[in-house]
Amino acid sequence: MFEVLPQLAPDPILGLSAAYKQDSNPSKIDLGVGVYKDEQGNTPILSAVAKAQQVLLERETSKTYITPQGVQGFIDGMLQLILGAQSPVLLADRVAAVQAPGGCGSLRILSELLTRVNADTKVWVSDPTWANHIPLIGNAGLTIETYPYFDKASASIRFDAMMECLRQVKKGDVVLLHGCCHNPTGADLTKAQWQEVMNVAKEREFLPFVDIAYQGFGDSLEDDAYGVRLLCENLPEVIIAASCSKNFGLYRERVGLAAIVCADSNTRKIAQGQIQSVARGIYSMPPSYGGALVDIILSDDALKQEWVNEVDEMRVRMRTLRELLVNKLAEYGAQKDFSFVNDQKGMFSFLCITPEQVQKMRNEHSVYFVDSSRVNVAGISLANVDTLAKAMVKVINA
Ligand code: PMP
Repeated sequence: MFEVLPQLAPDPILGLSAAYKQDSNPSKIDLGVGVYKDEQGNTPILSAVAKAQQVLLERETSKTYITPQGVQGFIDGMLQLILGAQSPVLLADRVAAVQAPGGCGSLRILSELLTRVNADTKVWVSDPTWANHIPLIGNAGLTIETYPYFDKASASIRFDAMMECLRQVKKGDVVLLHGCCHNPTGADLTKAQWQEVMNVAKEREFLPFVDIAYQGFGDSLEDDAYGVRLLCENLPEVIIAASCSKNFGLYRERVGLAAIVCADSNTRKIAQGQIQSVARGIYSMPPSYGGALVDIILSDDALKQEWVNEVDEMRVRMRTLRELLVNKLAEYGAQKDFSFVNDQKGMFSFLCITPEQVQKMRNEHSVYFVDSSRVNVAGISLANVDTLAKAMVKVINA
């Protein structure tokens, strides 16, 4: 019966990985897929995670089902990490939350919850945004619109245009915001800009939907939560999809958190029941393992400190690589100023070069990244940055 369905084009990023694998050039560079890599190109298990795995092995005595909301210690720890231990919304018992299978699972169940409220809800996403936002939100039945966000020509945020658009958004609409380390551009709002977004959300009464998948990869675990905390402390309602894939390196374990900040504690009870019922209708309950690991890490001071240090190390490495690349590009005489790359945050950078130039990088220099010019900064290394910069200069100055 499935022959009636169309054959779909392969995912461009997976196609890129396959082409990279087949390339026999020993100096090939992979800046495609969005996973953190160390200097050797590996995505290691964090040492805090490895230790937590040992603890869990000894502590876990049953594989019976966990509660529908997930591991409670995970939920409490994550809410404190994102919102702050003294968050007024936590103290006021206004936050419903469940563990979910990854940031993707969180985005999807929150979208399904929005359709329960109003199937005609519009969700505004940044132009551009992470490609998977479209199916995760759209396939729940919501209508997607875009607001201006990034200008490739000037390599900067189109903040005035963004605000002009947000001032037209209707009451009850939803606006998706990247908590930090915007994917794909790496361009984040300043604190003053977050303040303006909060003000317009209050004025227009739209619902902010914060996707925070890279907390700790921008400036610090605390600073990266600035925007989401500001919204939660000043607005009646906010929804949050968080991921532990990157900052805990738990990608394949599928660990995320879906949180709903409600206007009051009674509404929190309604939201808690509804979000669990949404999850029940899709996968019943989340897998326990990754959430249990995060719980062990966040509830043990020494282990938490070890994890914080590892997050700091990943962030500093990516920042250093940005600086190194920018310096080398200038040193080798690039006819384009790439200093904006230093201002971008997290794992991704838009190099703001043309798709033709991206293809030349791939075909003539075996450097692989997507046509939008998004690169995974963690794919750069001390060993390959020179080759990368030289190739870029050749392509850009041609
Ligand atoms: N949001 C954004 C912006 C992302 O980049 C990602 C991961 N690429 C996610 C959410 C979700 O990640 P995961 O489902 O692996 O936790």
